[in-house]
Amino acid sequence: MYQSLGLVIPCYNEQQVLPLLFERLHSFKSQLNMEVKVIFIDDGSRDTTWEQLFQFCEMNSFASAIKLSRNFGHQTAVSAGLSQIDTDLVGVLDADLQDPPELFIEMMGKVREGYHVVYAVRKNRKENFMLKFAYWLFYRILKKVANIDLALDSGDFCLMTKDVVHWINQMPEHNRFVRGLRGWVGYKQIGIPYDRAGRAAGETKYSLRKLMGLAMDGLISFSSLPLKISGWIGFFAAFLGVVYLVFEFIKIFFFEKAPSGWASMIGVTIFFGGVQLLMLGIIGQYLGRVFDEVKNRPIYIAEQTVGFLTKPK
Ligand code: UDP
Ligand code: MG
Repeated sequence: MYQSLGLVIPCYNEQQVLPLLFERLHSFKSQLNMEVKVIFIDDGSRDTTWEQLFQFCEMNSFASAIKLSRNFGHQTAVSAGLSQIDTDLVGVLDADLQDPPELFIEMMGKVREGYHVVYAVRKNRKENFMLKFAYWLFYRILKKVANIDLALDSGDFCLMTKDVVHWINQMPEHNRFVRGLRGWVGYKQIGIPYDRAGRAAGETKYSLRKLMGLAMDGLISFSSLPLKISGWIGFFAAFLGVVYLVFEFIKIFFFEKAPSGWASMIGVTIFFGGVQLLMLGIIGQYLGRVFDEVKNRPIYIAEQTVGFLTKPK
């Protein structure tokens, strides 16, 4: 019933890994007896990525590439690909071969069992200990606080049916946390474990800043808990203040009259000043995102396409 498979591959300065990727895609395609299409998204690369993609797409009719007008970020690049693909099944994978395309064969087995989303769950990672711990913690916190059922330790590497992709494309968000949107859609979803290899070539394109941005998008877009926490802290602080005032009144009327406690005054003032700024910051995070949404700019700009996608939509 599913007759075609489309792969969405975001590429940002991936010149070193592309020859390996092309080879792997050819061998993967020859293992399947169904139509396979590939859409590469060049996310504003500054190396020879676009030239290589261009050449590959001109030589292989199953491939197409979109050149974004600048670096929009991984999640936007994936969204751009998803909005252009029209196959029955859609797979998302990284260009660096950390996500083995062969796993899609196992994933397709699950789709035939009736699942609409099959995502890959990382059994282990080849990153350093601190980063591994940070990822581990982030997914657990997010799962606890998110308003949707989020998959643990799963990135964007997944296989989805056309229906799910349709609904993801319907979501107008500009701050796109694709794995969250995917979870939000619902349908039957399942994870399958895999060993995440190291990068086949090149360096990671995720700077710490981008990684933090992704974490923030996930947290803020899928949870209002930070806002609630700030409310609770405010309530607790006000309560403490009242108790303290009552205590001071009792002291003045019944015990001593001399003012004292300059240091504690300053301490409390600074502490609550800090708490207020922190809470304003949290509100600011939400407000900034609301601002991004109401501006309603296009999510991405396609400058050029090559291959079966004729012109940028
Ligand atoms: N990527 C992208 N835009 C960016 C950063 C990354 O399209 O701004 C792509 C990158 O080319 C790769 C995928 O997103 O295909 C994942 O990036 P990377 O492998 O560097 O991240 P890591 O695996 O280290 O988390
Ligand atoms: Mg990678």
